[in-house]
Amino acid sequence: MEAAAVRSMLSLVAPSVLLVFACAFAVAWFVEQRLRYLLYFAAACALFAAGAASQIFKQPANIGLNAMLSGALYLSAVLAAANGLLDRSGRAWHWQTLMGFWFASMLPLWYFFYVDRSLIARIYLQNFGYGLVLVAATTRLTELARGKAADRVLFWILLIFAVQFFPRTYLTLAFGGPIDTRAFGTTFFWQALQLSIAVLGVSLALAVLATAFSDILENVRTERDTDSLTGLLSRRRFQEIVFSQLERRKQPLALALCDVDHFKQVNDTYGHHAGDEVLRAVAAVLQGKCRKKDVVARLGGEEFAVLFPDTMIQEAREISERLRQAIASLNLPIQQNVTASFGVASFGPHDNWESVFRRADANLYRAKDLGRNAVHAENEQVA
Ligand code: GH3
Ligand code: MG
Ligand code: MG
Repeated sequence: MEAAAVRSMLSLVAPSVLLVFACAFAVAWFVEQRLRYLLYFAAACALFAAGAASQIFKQPANIGLNAMLSGALYLSAVLAAANGLLDRSGRAWHWQTLMGFWFASMLPLWYFFYVDRSLIARIYLQNFGYGLVLVAATTRLTELARGKAADRVLFWILLIFAVQFFPRTYLTLAFGGPIDTRAFGTTFFWQALQLSIAVLGVSLALAVLATAFSDILENVRTERDTDSLTGLLSRRRFQEIVFSQLERRKQPLALALCDVDHFKQVNDTYGHHAGDEVLRAVAAVLQGKCRKKDVVARLGGEEFAVLFPDTMIQEAREISERLRQAIASLNLPIQQNVTASFGVASFGPHDNWESVFRRADANLYRAKDLGRNAVHAENEQVA
């Protein structure tokens, strides 16, 4: 095979890999549509591959149109990638900023082809332009450098990818021999560019995929750990916290179970929707009125639990009493007064979750028996 054919085959590797990444990002976005940045990255990879294909296959054949089209595709790809990363951190650029970048880069490109034709100027303009866009995005993402592992890796790859546009372009143009449009594919500049895209562009895409994977896992974990109606912890997460506190023998430790009184009546009289509102309001009181270190969860239905770390039973009872009063004085848009009953128990040295849960539950039912809207804690004498 001729050297030129081998070269053009090799130059197809980067765009083909990017197309595969475009599909991977699109599929990942399909799975988790909340992660919009995956769509930006799918677009960035596809646009970049299209830009490279347009240059490699010399389509359109008109050299000026080709320069403008491939330039526009590359620029759009870089803007999509940068904005995707910014969007992930909730800092996407306004569309005016994106258009500003786009025209500030495309107008001079047009000028240096059609007015003052200079390949060198176009190369500097494009490469420094991409570098600037990526550096500008990186400076808005510095908190990633202090984030979780996937974020830190992403940050450093992005920074290296952004910065390399400057020395690579300068060095390969200054020391890489003459440049002309006909033998552009053989220049040191073009080959170094291919290599940098193959190594750093692909590393960046891999880092984004790894980040997406960790974001998806985190979303799944948050969903598993959160009660969707009230935003409180789920029963499962609550139990995990109890187990970890017990393992670390964190004592004294107390547990309160809270059950809304006559809740079925609320549902029956005002409807399920009003019932849900009541549950949210009760949850907000529990979360808002207990101490920072206390752990509040919705166990299911109209049942809640509060774990009191470093707390003796008397104090847990007093806090529960405060919570009970706050619930009873809730101002709700229904005629019925909403109250709740509490059962409190503390963890002894030989207790486990089941034994304490059972005692707290028994105390809760004692509070119900005593007429509801009451707190009953163990070791309390009932008059
Ligand atoms: P008690 O004072 O003895 O606790 O009586 P209660 O009516 O509160 O208790 P019961 O267990 O009879 O009724 C609980 C009701 O809670 C029945 C169920 O339909 C309702 N419920 C469970 N989960 C939800 C929910 O997510 N939303 C709403 N609106 N209602 C729920
Ligand atoms: Mg109940
Ligand atoms: Mg109830």
